[in-house]
Amino acid sequence: MKKLALHWKIIIGMVLGIIWALLSSSLGWSAFTINWIDPFGTIFINLLKLIAVPLVLFSIISGVANIGDPKSLGRMGGKTLLIYLTTTVLAIGLGLLLVNAVKPGKLIDEQSRIDNRISYEIWASEQGYEIKDGINYLQDPAFFERAQEISELTKSELRDASVSDKLETADKTKETTPLQPLVDIVPDNFFYSLSNNGLMLQIIFFAIFFGVCLLFIPSDKSKPVLSFVDGTLEVFLKMVDLVMQAAPFFVFALLAGVVSKMAGDDIGKVVEIFKGLSWYSLTVLGGLLLMIFVIYPLVLKLFVKQIPYKGFFKAMGPAQTLAFSTSSSAATLPVTMECVENNLGVDKKISSFVLPIGATVNMDGTSLYQAIAVVFLAQMHMIDLTIGQQLIVVLTATLASIGSAAVPSAGLVMLIIVLDSVGLNPAWIAIIFPVDRILDMFRTVVNVTGDATVSSIIADGEGMLNYQDVESPSDTFDLDS
Ligand code: ASP
Repeated sequence: MKKLALHWKIIIGMVLGIIWALLSSSLGWSAFTINWIDPFGTIFINLLKLIAVPLVLFSIISGVANIGDPKSLGRMGGKTLLIYLTTTVLAIGLGLLLVNAVKPGKLIDEQSRIDNRISYEIWASEQGYEIKDGINYLQDPAFFERAQEISELTKSELRDASVSDKLETADKTKETTPLQPLVDIVPDNFFYSLSNNGLMLQIIFFAIFFGVCLLFIPSDKSKPVLSFVDGTLEVFLKMVDLVMQAAPFFVFALLAGVVSKMAGDDIGKVVEIFKGLSWYSLTVLGGLLLMIFVIYPLVLKLFVKQIPYKGFFKAMGPAQTLAFSTSSSAATLPVTMECVENNLGVDKKISSFVLPIGATVNMDGTSLYQAIAVVFLAQMHMIDLTIGQQLIVVLTATLASIGSAAVPSAGLVMLIIVLDSVGLNPAWIAIIFPVDRILDMFRTVVNVTGDATVSSIIADGEGMLNYQDVESPSDTFDLDS
C-alpha cells in the first residue's frame, strides 16, 4: 500500500486536534486538554528547538568550511542578504497595497472610530506629540464629556498585564544607540549565546567566524575538526528523523492546546474574537496566502525554472505544515533543511549556510503582517498615514522582522517598535492581540516558504540545484534512509 505523505499525516493530526479542542470545549473538558494533552505539544517544540540551536551552529560551520574559499563565501553571503532583503521589502509593499485598498480599519462603525480618535489624541498630548492632520476632537466642546470617559478607560487598558509585559520587552529594545543591533550580534560569551535560544544572530556570527578561520589553518589540523562537525551534524539530522516519526501525534496535541486555550469552555468565544477583527484578519490572511501561492511560485518560475509549482509544495509540505502548527521558524528549521536538501535538491553547501540565516533574519510573513497591522490600527483611529510615514513603516518593518526571534508572537512584540516609529500608541497591540496567535501560524508558513525559495534561487545561481520529483516527501524522514 502506498504510504501517506508526512504532510498529510500532519494535516490530519492538526484537524483532529482542532476537532478535539472544539469537542472538549463544548463538553467542558478544556482544563483536561490543557493539563494532559497540551504539554505534549510543548515537548514537541522543545525537542525541535533543542535540535535547532546546535544544528544552526554545526551546519553553518560546515557550510562555510565546505564552500572552500572566503571569496565565494563573501559573494554568496552578499547575494543571500540582498535577496532576503528584496523579498522582505516586496512583502511589505504587498501588505501596504492590500491594507490601503481594503481599508479594514475604516470598516468599523463611525462612533467607535471617533472614540478611538479621541483616545489617540489624549495619548498624543500626554506624550507631547504634535498632531499634524488638522483633526482635533479634544478642542471640540461637543466631545468634552466623551473625552473624559475615554481617558479613564485608556488608563485601565494600559494596566492589562499581557500587553504591558510586551511593552516592557520592546522598551528594552528601544533604549539603545543606533549601532546597538550591530553590537548585539557580537557575543562576549559564546556559551551565554548558546544557552539563550533567542541569541541566534550571535550563534550565526560565531559559526561564520569559526568556519572562516577553519579555512585558514593547515588542512591536517582542520580536517579532523570538520569531520567532527559533519558527523555531529548527521546525528542531529537523525534526531529530526526520529522526532518527525511522531510529528502527527505531537501536532494533534499542539493544536488541541492552542485552540482550547483560546476557547476555554465556550466555543462561541473563538467566533466572537474573530468577528470584530474579521476584515483585518482577512486582509492579513489574503496577503500571506498571496505570498505562498502566487508570489513565491512566480519568483521561482522567473529565476529557477526547474522546480514545478506542485513539486515545490510537495517538497516543502512537511516544513510548511510544521511551521503552521509550531508558529516557530526556529523550531521548524531542522525540517526545513531536510525538505530543501532532500526534496528540492539544494546542495548542502548552500542550504546549511542560507537557511539558518534565513530562519533568523528573513521573515516576509512577519513584515507583511506588521505593515498591515500598523496601517489598520491607524485607520481605525482615523489617522491617515502619509506616504512618508508609510515609507518609514517599510524601513522599520524590515528591521523589525530581522530583529524578531523565530518564535511564536515575536512579530507582535516587534510591532511595538514599528508603531512607535510613526508616532502611534504601542499599546494598540492589545487590539489585535486576540487573533494574533492564529495569524502567527500563517505568517510562519510564509517565513519558512520564503527561506526555501531564496535558497533555491541561490543554489540555482551557483549551479548547485538538482531538483528531482520525490515520490513521497515522507520518505525524507524514514529512519533507515
Ligand atoms: N512566529 C514567527 C516565526 O517564528 C515570528 C512572528 O511573526 O511572530 O517565524
